[in-house]
Amino acid sequence: MSDTVAPGPEKLQYQTEVKQLLDILAHSLYTEKDIFLRELISNASDALNRIQFEMLTNQDVTDADAELAIWLEPERDAGILRISDSGIGMNREELVTNLGTIAHSGAKAFLNGVEPGETSVEEIIGQFGVGFYSVFMVAKEVRVTSRSHCPEESGWTWISDGGSEYELVPADKASRGTEIEIRLKDDDSDFADAWRLEEIVKRHSDFVSFPIYLVEPVEPDADAETDEDAEAPVEAVAADEDGDGVSQTKLNSQTAIWRQTPSSVLEEDYNQFFRQLALGADDPLLHMHLVTDSPVDIRTVLFIPSKRPDDIFMAHREDGLRLYSRKILIQKHNRDLLPEYLRFVEGVVDSEDLPLNVSRETIQDNPATRQISQTLARRVLRELDRLAGRDEEKYAQFWEQFGMFVKAGLATDFEHRDSLIGLLRFKSTKSDGDWITLEQYAERMPANQKFIYYVEGPDLDAARRSPHLDYYKAHDLEVLYFSDPVADAYLSMSLMDFREMKLVNVDSADVEVPDTAGDEEASVEADEALQGLVEKFKAVLGERVEDVRSSNLLVENPSRLVYAGESMSRAFERMSNLMGQEAPQQKRILELNSDHELVRNLKARHDADAADPLLTELIEQVYDNALLLEDMHPEPAAMTERILAIMVAASRA
Ligand code: ADP
Ligand code: MG
Repeated sequence: MSDTVAPGPEKLQYQTEVKQLLDILAHSLYTEKDIFLRELISNASDALNRIQFEMLTNQDVTDADAELAIWLEPERDAGILRISDSGIGMNREELVTNLGTIAHSGAKAFLNGVEPGETSVEEIIGQFGVGFYSVFMVAKEVRVTSRSHCPEESGWTWISDGGSEYELVPADKASRGTEIEIRLKDDDSDFADAWRLEEIVKRHSDFVSFPIYLVEPVEPDADAETDEDAEAPVEAVAADEDGDGVSQTKLNSQTAIWRQTPSSVLEEDYNQFFRQLALGADDPLLHMHLVTDSPVDIRTVLFIPSKRPDDIFMAHREDGLRLYSRKILIQKHNRDLLPEYLRFVEGVVDSEDLPLNVSRETIQDNPATRQISQTLARRVLRELDRLAGRDEEKYAQFWEQFGMFVKAGLATDFEHRDSLIGLLRFKSTKSDGDWITLEQYAERMPANQKFIYYVEGPDLDAARRSPHLDYYKAHDLEVLYFSDPVADAYLSMSLMDFREMKLVNVDSADVEVPDTAGDEEASVEADEALQGLVEKFKAVLGERVEDVRSSNLLVENPSRLVYAGESMSRAFERMSNLMGQEAPQQKRILELNSDHELVRNLKARHDADAADPLLTELIEQVYDNALLLEDMHPEPAAMTERILAIMVAASRA
């Protein structure tokens, strides 16, 4: 601090978004209030991790010898709970920014879009977590007294009752760290019960790596006699050794589960560890535990969540693995230990091969990091493959949540290309709603089929309706559905072939199909028969189409639009459109089915009177229908006027 006079007590306004959040919390009927303790303990643990990391290189801190721990001190009668830590602490400015504002932009945007009462705490937790502010679910008033680790800083108390402003007061705090004093709401006074705290810590914070102590006054003789025969929990309770009238009981086991032998860890322990790590309520879909020391030392537990996080595509999302070296947390969200496309994997990595004083910036350049990341990626892909072999249903769940990441991986990770291809799943015209592999597709296709066919669509229902499927349905040929607009556009660019068979989009103008004997001639004949009508179509549609021709691949549909350009440029066009960019559109070829009643009627009408105005309207509508089926129609509502005119004509008695 400078030599100017320290500011005295002061009232400050919360940032607007914080007010909104506090308002939502205050009116919430959310019942899992005990998560506030998990959040505060998690913050204390973060603060302890940070001082531990700081002290690797800087011993010049307040209270350098203090035990790194968390203390819970309930006062049942007063309805007060105190949570303190010997972590990094906060100075005045940090109290203001950390507890008076919300840093991440996603949360701001989200809160600005909602009204209190319109959104639930669950939703907010799902989006970005409520963190510190969750304390106001149980608190009438909160006092945070903190002293920063910087020796020149003194203590400050931050006081709030959850209203629109908070107060800052200089504090006389001798020790480093943060103490949060909670005046509990009358209905929530059980959070000042020792047994309740113990139960919550076991459930939500057992794996926190610093000790969490329950601090209780020692009641001199009161229980001494009655307890004599009872089985005292000797290991847990530390007597009042220093005679200050209080006892400390450690509540958590502090187990570093990733440093244990995999065979000694129970399934439920992994699940619980995951829930505590992710600050969530769901069990993971899969865990993997790897302990090895060659080629590099790794102790790791990784998880595949059972659900894709709501915010996984948001820029503000912090993801990555927790990186420890010799049990010290070096980085909370490390992104260098797994390839980008596996960013949905959560877990902990501990490696003694990373030097302890490694700065966060240089982790990336460390040769051990590269080795670890290769080992982990290989392991994750192998475990997924095993899961697919062992439990189809679970794998399907994985695929539905995270399949898009596997597809993205194919575009970037050439080293694991074969493993990734093995993980791909598709629905097809013959899979009956199940997921199949390319392998299964290849195995059951007829001997004369030379390509792997797929059809694109904005979603599964649309893909199912595609007119391009006519021929394949009629000839019992299987076609894969590429119905995820983004992921499958990537896929069609990165997966050109499988076992030397090309993947072919069935909307291609020059698609080759088995069994074409005889069709060629038929098509020439049809072309001639439709000649006049085709010319009329060309005259009406003009520059909008590349060409108009008759088709031998249509059966049930009267028309379709086929793509005559390079398949790469189509995928590119699709991607650009998805990203909202105006891409140069390759003109399509309109194909007509000369056997369809509509086309025959149009031909008859054209033969009777080539200038019939209704004919022009009908041609326009045929084209619009084809555009709709390709998901290419720029403005469907604009068709109603014409449809009405056609209906009037058709309804004339
Ligand atoms: P998050 O933990 O996701 O950052 P929180 O709302 O839980 O969000 O906490 C906000 C910030 O307040 C933290 O990032 C941290 O900087 C600060 N903070 C909260 N509790 C403590 C504490 N016990 N010690 C030091 N800093 C803390
Ligand atoms: Mg937090």
